[in-house]
Amino acid sequence: MKRAYNFNAGPSALPLEVLLKAQEELVNFQDTGMSVMELSHRSKDYEAVHNEAQSLLKQLLQIPDNYEVLFIQGGASLQFSMIPMNFLAEGQIGNYVLTGAWSEKAIKEAKILGRATSIAASAKETNYDRIPKLSELNVAPEDGYLHITSNNTIFGTQWKEFPTVKDNMLIADMSSDILSKPLPINNFAMIYAGAQKNLGPSGITVVIIRKDLLERSHDQVPSVLRYDTFSKNNSLYNTPPTFAIYMLRNVLQWVTDQGGVEAIAKLNEDKAALIYNAIDESNGFYKGHAQNDSRSLMNITFNLSSDELSKKFLQEAKDAGFVGLNGHRSVGGCRASTYNAVPFEACEALRNFMIKFQKANA
Ligand SMILES: *Cc1c(COP(=O)(O)O)cnc(C)c1O
Repeated sequence: MKRAYNFNAGPSALPLEVLLKAQEELVNFQDTGMSVMELSHRSKDYEAVHNEAQSLLKQLLQIPDNYEVLFIQGGASLQFSMIPMNFLAEGQIGNYVLTGAWSEKAIKEAKILGRATSIAASAKETNYDRIPKLSELNVAPEDGYLHITSNNTIFGTQWKEFPTVKDNMLIADMSSDILSKPLPINNFAMIYAGAQKNLGPSGITVVIIRKDLLERSHDQVPSVLRYDTFSKNNSLYNTPPTFAIYMLRNVLQWVTDQGGVEAIAKLNEDKAALIYNAIDESNGFYKGHAQNDSRSLMNITFNLSSDELSKKFLQEAKDAGFVGLNGHRSVGGCRASTYNAVPFEACEALRNFMIKFQKANA
């Protein structure tokens, strides 16, 4: 069986073991005589999967008991609206750190809803090539929350340390780096992530929320857009995407089998180092987009000296079996996404290809 060297930014690579398990169980899940997709979402068989996905995530990230794990549809993008809807009362400000396109989209939704917003810091002037220093952040006591994007999928930057804010009202979009390393959960009021980068297939968004926040949703917010609705019903208020949650459960089992997030983090560092070293040792043939101390271990963005050469690189990489190396349309150049499920061997193969291409074209 031939598997591609998949560097897609999202949806992205899933562990082969997880896919094979799903294949094996597809038409007869645990002797139920049907697939997971055909089970009632109110059945014991499905609920066990649902609850195990929550408990595995709690174990892996050592989530304290004063937090809950919710499963919501609508992608990370719906969270951009649910956060201001639920958490900003009259007179409160949603404060955002702008580190890329996803942060911009997040603040845009708060504005559409007519909520007051402010910008704690922005890296836009330098085309989002860095994460602002903690000392640059403008935060105020009247802020309802501070919102950050922990990893900027498009620009290839990542927060290395997190700010501490009043009442720990820090909210993070971790769509593209959740579960890639251990996290200080107590620093955060809420963490959310669309599953399709590091957690599973698209269709499900994981929300880790501190319990005291659940009371903040007010009566004007429709039921399916309120966090307390999901909490009171164990994320089974309406039909959840059962197959996506089953796949999430299997990915979480796989991460556990790999030795948990510490082991995964070490591997992610080694994988990214292979490719960053190829960039750094290329005498400028490859140029990284992100400043060194802001570099992402999940999305590695780089350019070649001309658009023509980038095109040639991407074409030859494609012919050699590498998929998904095109940079995002808003940035151009190249991007290698090295999420948890991307094997070390794929990164090694890419490093070797980059060195070979440089030798032939320098
Ligand atoms: C992919 C991505 C999103 C969008 O996720 P959807 O599930 O498609 O809404 C939001 N934020 C970040 C950081 C992402 O990488």
